[in-house]
Amino acid sequence: MKKRIFSIFMIMVFAFAMISCGNKDDGNNNQEQTPSAGIYTPGTYEGKATGYGGDIIAKVELSANRIESITCIGENETNGIGSVAIEKLPTAMVEQQTVYVDAIAGATYSSKGVVDAVTAALTAAGVDVQSLQPTGTVPTAEPIPTEETMSADIVVIGAGGAGMTAALEATNAGRNVLIIEKQAMVGGNTIKATGGMNAAGTQLQKDEGVDDSVEVFIDDTMSGGNYVNNEELVRTLAERSADGVAWLESIGAPLKSLTFSGGASFKRMHAPEGGAAVGPYIVQALSQQLADKNVNILYNTAATEIVTTNGEVTGVIATGNNIKYTINCEAVILATGGFGANEEMVTKYNPDLAGFKTTNSPGIVGDGIRMAEAVGANVIDMEQIQVHPTVEQETSTLITESVRGQGAILVNKNGERFFNEMSTRDLVSKAIMQQEGGSAYLIFDQQVRDNLSAIETYVSADLVEEEDNLADLAEDIGVDPETLIKTVADWNDTVTNKSKDVFERTTGMDRAITVAPYYAIKVAPAIHHTMGGVQIDTQAQVLSKTGTAIPGLFAAGEVTGGVHGANRIGGNAVAEVVVFGRIAGQSASAYVQNH
Ligand code: ADP
Repeated sequence: MKKRIFSIFMIMVFAFAMISCGNKDDGNNNQEQTPSAGIYTPGTYEGKATGYGGDIIAKVELSANRIESITCIGENETNGIGSVAIEKLPTAMVEQQTVYVDAIAGATYSSKGVVDAVTAALTAAGVDVQSLQPTGTVPTAEPIPTEETMSADIVVIGAGGAGMTAALEATNAGRNVLIIEKQAMVGGNTIKATGGMNAAGTQLQKDEGVDDSVEVFIDDTMSGGNYVNNEELVRTLAERSADGVAWLESIGAPLKSLTFSGGASFKRMHAPEGGAAVGPYIVQALSQQLADKNVNILYNTAATEIVTTNGEVTGVIATGNNIKYTINCEAVILATGGFGANEEMVTKYNPDLAGFKTTNSPGIVGDGIRMAEAVGANVIDMEQIQVHPTVEQETSTLITESVRGQGAILVNKNGERFFNEMSTRDLVSKAIMQQEGGSAYLIFDQQVRDNLSAIETYVSADLVEEEDNLADLAEDIGVDPETLIKTVADWNDTVTNKSKDVFERTTGMDRAITVAPYYAIKVAPAIHHTMGGVQIDTQAQVLSKTGTAIPGLFAAGEVTGGVHGANRIGGNAVAEVVVFGRIAGQSASAYVQNH
């Protein structure tokens, strides 16, 4: 269901808008000032406000009695998240003739920026924005039906990485696929993935002389997961990973840059060239493919129930846009992600995580797990919940592991390093939580920024302190300058002399921290990934409590348990999404064909 943050949000927006719009420079009144008998003074007005990544500019065209059009520009909003707010909210505002529209869940800052900018433009036009409060009588063009029946060979629930991958494979196999997505946008948590995809034995590794293997990939994943993982699933992940990278290339998403990720023995994380974030990159390629193949996605529609007849899956019930859908199908692929944004569920399985922030998209609340359990699915490893060590707490922005992989260090309030920054996420998180204030600073230089374009997003979101020298940077973050200078000098010695690190860090040491400007980001752990979920076999069939496959029910991605054990290593989420998303699409297709 679409998240309504309407009232409190709108009150805040209005208060903010009234303050920001007092400044006449925000409005650019360039219309003819003819007296009007209507409610508005016709013309085009401009307003500006701050979004997530920087300024958002709104242009509002008014006729005497209507808001005729609204366009917004916000070039620095995150592609696929904030950009959805920029695209969709103006249309909703014109349709409903108000600024009081629902924010796009998952794009709160950008939504607020759009509303603020439009409010600023309207205020510049002399409009009393509060008078636009909806009265509940906005006429709709057509009466809305309340029930609809549809059919498809396969219904995919969730349009994140796993769902879109599965849908594409099933479509390519000739099946008729319908995707249901509860948010207004595709991408789920996948679009937030910044690092890359782990794969062993790829062409890129061979080209770069990296002597990795499927067996080492399995060992790293098992040991990173404290051997709680299901080894068969891990083997499938590793064996199919190189093919997954090749498949991504075939759909227009080549991953041509190779880096280390925490917990990996070799350079195994395959990322887009130039250090761009992997999530938006593959989500864009997948959604383009699905659009090219005319795969239908029902947005703002949440699946609520899987329907079975005599133990076989025969349909899905979903609601959205004031419609209750009954969708008849032969197979369902669950790809609803985990439950990291469901505080109640998280604390039920791990009470120690009460009050923790989450990096998850708001739709990731365990719907798929609940629906699967209702038809007899077994769930495993539910208490295995990962916190990510480096999350900016004000905005819950995950600062990618690649920042450390490219050479950043972590320091505490004393300006000292305290742990191997490239260790696994659970251990780094624990080490940060033991520092004063439960937080730390990532320290890096211009070379790291130059190698990682994801950092530009953090800079434009104002999350980064920047100074020409380390002493000033230390002042900014409130640590002793001499200590920080010494910490960095010691680290640089270790890197340049290739000597043994005091904390036994062995990777992400390609460059010392030497080129100004210098940067710092304050970070602390936040809930990131739920390793547990629905039990599947290597064919992505959902297993019942008695261990048999539930006919017609498949699952892939974070909704499943078993691949990551007690701790997911960086780069394995995208690997899972691609490998098991493909398997789920192929298995469901074969099931439908033979059914
Ligand atoms: P994965 O990485 O496993 O693909 P993601 O978090 O990327 O998972 O994507 C999961 C998607 O599923 C999100 O887009 C989320 O909004 C969607 N989703 C979650 N619950 C439902 C539901 N009940 N109905 C439809 N979509 C859902």
